[in-house]
Amino acid sequence: MSSLLIKNGFVVTLNDANDMLENGSVYIEDDKIVEVGLIPEDKYQPDRVIDAGGNIVMPGLINAHHHLYSTFARGFVPPGEPARNFKEILERLWWKLDLALDAEDVYYSALIAVMYAARAGCTTIIDHHASPSCSDGSLDIIEKAFREVGLSGCLCYEVSDRNEKGEGIAENERYIKKCKDAEDDQMAALFGLHALMTLSTPTLEKCADIAHQLGTGFHVHVAEGEIDVQLTFERYQRRIMDRFLDFGIPSPQTIFVHGIHFEAREMDLLKTTDSILVNNPESNMNNGLSVTPILEMLSRGVLVGLGTDGMSSHMISQARAMYLLQRTYRRDPRVAFGEAAEILLQNNRAICERIFKEPRGVLAPGHLADVIIPEYVPFTPLHANNFYGHMLYGLSFSRVSTTVARGNVIVENGHMTGVDEEEVRAKCVERAKALWSRIH
Ligand SMILES: [Zn+2]
Repeated sequence: MSSLLIKNGFVVTLNDANDMLENGSVYIEDDKIVEVGLIPEDKYQPDRVIDAGGNIVMPGLINAHHHLYSTFARGFVPPGEPARNFKEILERLWWKLDLALDAEDVYYSALIAVMYAARAGCTTIIDHHASPSCSDGSLDIIEKAFREVGLSGCLCYEVSDRNEKGEGIAENERYIKKCKDAEDDQMAALFGLHALMTLSTPTLEKCADIAHQLGTGFHVHVAEGEIDVQLTFERYQRRIMDRFLDFGIPSPQTIFVHGIHFEAREMDLLKTTDSILVNNPESNMNNGLSVTPILEMLSRGVLVGLGTDGMSSHMISQARAMYLLQRTYRRDPRVAFGEAAEILLQNNRAICERIFKEPRGVLAPGHLADVIIPEYVPFTPLHANNFYGHMLYGLSFSRVSTTVARGNVIVENGHMTGVDEEEVRAKCVERAKALWSRIH
């Protein structure tokens, strides 16, 4: 057994009572939290003690929608004219990039992205993967990156018919079974689908059959661009949620991503099926898309989560983008501030409760020992009623000095402890350069 005591922190527990403890401690054994509170120093004999120096100590953050494979797009200029719309962004950038990835690219793009997530205080990532030239076994490669860094992850492969009919079905089925048989809960799986616009009826039927047999939810993009809505209606005379219902896809374990162009009835269907909707505001802005009506969804009681869609691994800045965008959209400075913070801190945790066995996202006994120490000593009063203000205006710009994931100190003084950052970075530059040269 290994043990760790974090002491002298401003401990933000995020428990139901919203307890905050000045000069508080967190005691950890193996991968679980044992005690949180004002712990006398001689109560335990921990293997290791970390002095938080009065900085905030809080639960590790959760990213509810990511694309680790998109990492090597940073700095890449797609050939040809700039994309004019969402469909062209997919065709000219993402579908060329994912097709060009080989197995080693999949590994390094995941490894460095997971490392930077850890450094940004994110300890659980729900990822959506595509690498059509090496789909079989690709989720194992990504899992390897997660295990080397030490984060928890939920993986899926995005099935579509855009290159080959039903590409990725076998990889989802294999990986879901693997996770069900695994001895630990570090990795989980969903059945990945790209979007209705790239999925034929036979493919959807096959995916639904397999996922239902395995008792697994889905992870799929919905109504991100108007084209998804238009093509689905032209081909099948169905709205997006109606077509998913035809195949039994909505469920409490199913993550629908975006939902920008949902009409009121489709939002009601999200609620009646208890499905999850994940919003990615920076990505939507980056693609020149419209705004997801998350306040309308929240008012219906839909479980709305927050992801980055590959834009970054910084969850607090993403929550900041969420409320700023909603305020701009509604021309109302009163809205979305508390909602954005709660979506990040409470709803993303609730999503994980539906996917993983181990509870996380609260500093409480029995919870997974995912704990972060951002470099943030408040210079204005901080208490239970104004933490969101400190988080969205202050913590969003703070470096995370320490990340403890599954009980292991994986980031210390802002850098990885168990991975050679410089070696991985140099390898990534080499891989990205070669990848870019293959895209025309
Ligand atoms: Zn996405």
